[in-house]
Amino acid sequence: MNLAKLLTHVSIAIVTVIGPVRPLRSTELGPEVVLNAVYQGLKKVDGTRANPRVRWNVRNGTSSPCGRISGTLYCPRNNTIYITQQQIRMAYQYGDAALAYIFAHEYAHAAQVAGGFTPRSITQAELQADCLAGYYMGVMPDVDFDDKDIEEIASIAFQVGDYEFNNKQHHGTPKQRALAVLLGFKGSQQQNGISICRVR
Ligand SMILES: [Zn+2]
Repeated sequence: MNLAKLLTHVSIAIVTVIGPVRPLRSTELGPEVVLNAVYQGLKKVDGTRANPRVRWNVRNGTSSPCGRISGTLYCPRNNTIYITQQQIRMAYQYGDAALAYIFAHEYAHAAQVAGGFTPRSITQAELQADCLAGYYMGVMPDVDFDDKDIEEIASIAFQVGDYEFNNKQHHGTPKQRALAVLLGFKGSQQQNGISICRVR
């Protein structure tokens, strides 16, 4: 992932002294940098102003108003995204952009609630969240996703797909999930592109 500017006090100080900082070379960024940059980006591009809080590096078993944390999730009861340690480790098997996707997906659930989107099933809600995640990542300023990043994102989306068609928690097949996030990226290149994620 490339950041157009580092979102830290240090870099802001540098910017005022030497002017705009050129994009960094593509490198793997650590989770804290990724989550901070993507959080700023998401808040800028989210039209619903969902503005969820974020807790990251959460241990499984931590209590929340939505029950004990057993995996990364968005809890509507306190408008908070929980990203677990285990999930961060899993994302980095793919790379930093995979973590950006996980975060953007959960943020999309907050936007679904704030925007009053009402998909008919969990599968539909999950695939829409994947699509919105792709859209958000494609339009957010200051964070660039190159071809390798998009590959990471499609790979992890494919990996987290499932074939449990009879389970109410079915999130979509590997192919559906990878295609949904790529569809959102495609929408980000178009005028009024978020409509590509509309549930029909
Ligand atoms: Zn989800």
